[in-house]
Amino acid sequence: MLSGTVISGEDMVALDGYVVIKNGIIKEVGEGRERGHFEGIICPAFVNAHTHVADSIAKDPPFMDLADLVGPGGLKHRILERAGDDLLIESMRFSAEEMLDSGTCAFGDFREGGPHGVELLLRALEGLPIQSRVFGRPLGTTADIHPACWGIGLSSTRDYDRDFVDEVVSIAKRSGKRVAIHAGEAGRDDIEGALAIGPDILIHLSRAERSDLRDVADSGASVVVCPRSNLFTRAGLPDIAAMLSLELNVCVGTDNLMINSTSIFREMELLSKAIVRDDRQVFMMCTINGARALGMAERLGSIDPGKEARINVFDRNSRNLRGSLNPLASIVRRAEPSDIMLRI
Ligand SMILES: [Zn+2]
Repeated sequence: MLSGTVISGEDMVALDGYVVIKNGIIKEVGEGRERGHFEGIICPAFVNAHTHVADSIAKDPPFMDLADLVGPGGLKHRILERAGDDLLIESMRFSAEEMLDSGTCAFGDFREGGPHGVELLLRALEGLPIQSRVFGRPLGTTADIHPACWGIGLSSTRDYDRDFVDEVVSIAKRSGKRVAIHAGEAGRDDIEGALAIGPDILIHLSRAERSDLRDVADSGASVVVCPRSNLFTRAGLPDIAAMLSLELNVCVGTDNLMINSTSIFREMELLSKAIVRDDRQVFMMCTINGARALGMAERLGSIDPGKEARINVFDRNSRNLRGSLNPLASIVRRAEPSDIMLRI
């Protein structure tokens, strides 16, 4: 049993109480003073809704334009093409372990390199207690999708021939796979084309205007914002207040490993201080909303009876958190991986 301040339910309500766990499943969440085996601030583990973990072989390149960095033929793709399988597998495994160490229990990855690239990621994740949704990217003009992929993960529509995109999307949908695509990052001109393919998930939308966001709301797609990535590439910061007012499902990704660490803590601090100023919404974006976008909300993303116990317990007496006036605000605005005293 865990006790203390529980950030409970899908609305992330803080209550003084306890959580009973049996065989890895949350059996009971209650209010009141019970003394658990661990006392602290009990939170659902994070969901990182958008990564490119293979980039971790080339961290922190010089500052450069988005197209030169990650566009077709750009630095990232030149480095990835040259990399051997063993190096890629080792690097992706380290990235997944780093996510676990910083309190993340699930992630959605855009895996380039066609079916072979997906195979390498699956090998990298073998035996790790992290859950993943893999979005494969077709190679060149072959619409070949690895069966283990949950979906396809496309670059901007401006990077492809339109007929090819239509073919890949129709094959993906026929085989029950989700469609995720970058849009509204380098400009807003690719948002309309992205919506035309009927996506399940749109990545970025940092350049989207309110009229674009209304169209996104009508489409029912989830949105993954990546604010640290947007700062690096100077893509502007997304209008999350407008997204939330339109009731979009907004979640958070750390995007390319070459640009950012996988730490959700760094995204939460930036989001709450510079963009949204609503700690509860920020926390939801990094947990339950991500689980919804990745089709995992039935089993994780919040502390509710029946869900898997994927939980971080924070030490309320750590030097960093001691003196907090509001546990949830402190987790969002200042917590670090070192404040986690127990990860389940
Ligand atoms: Zn991305």
